[in-house]
Amino acid sequence: MKVQEARYVMSNSDYLKCPEPDLPEYAFIGRSNVGKSSLINMLTGKKALAKTSQQPGKTQLINHFIINETWYLVDLPGYGYAKVSKTEREKWEKMINDYLYNRPNLICTFLLIDVRHSALAVDLEFMAQLGEAGIPFHIIFTKADKLKSGQVNTQVEAYKAKLAEIWEEIPPVFVTSAEKNEGRDPVLQAIEAYNRA
Ligand code: GDP
Repeated sequence: MKVQEARYVMSNSDYLKCPEPDLPEYAFIGRSNVGKSSLINMLTGKKALAKTSQQPGKTQLINHFIINETWYLVDLPGYGYAKVSKTEREKWEKMINDYLYNRPNLICTFLLIDVRHSALAVDLEFMAQLGEAGIPFHIIFTKADKLKSGQVNTQVEAYKAKLAEIWEEIPPVFVTSAEKNEGRDPVLQAIEAYNRA
């Protein structure tokens, strides 16, 4: 898929105020600082579509972008930022859960994992949450340029082995580097395949 047009639509904290659910929608989420904004900018080919975060944990909104006038890309606020208060964390949980459980056009979620990290409890818990909500997820490993390619493979295989202990079926995984502009097409192809189905 070529991204011909990528446009910001709106941001809000209430799933009921999101755009009419009349197009397929794909949400991107992960720990703060995982490289989500950089990835979204790479996927869409727009340098500053999603704001790369100077202050992790600050943007606590559901951000909608429309791609080629045919699907929504949703930038969800990150989790796991240590400095966030309990109240803010609870607000985040409610907002995200309401969105995940009630957004009828949400096709699948892309969960971002820093390829340097081993399986972290906070990510595994979020996957469990997605499972409970019945939302399929794919995993996107980010920042692949930070490791040698052999190390990337080792990390990915170790992560898959961990997932195999938990999930009957391992979700599709993608390896990306926004820095090197790598891994874009397979992600867009997965979205295109859903859009065609
Ligand atoms: P977000 O908080 O998840 O939206 O993360 P950002 O996209 O703002 O990125 C967090 C930090 O990681 C920034 O300093 C980025 O420059 C850096 N970063 C993001 N993606 C990559 C990548 O693919 N490679 C490298 N080396 N750094 C990256």
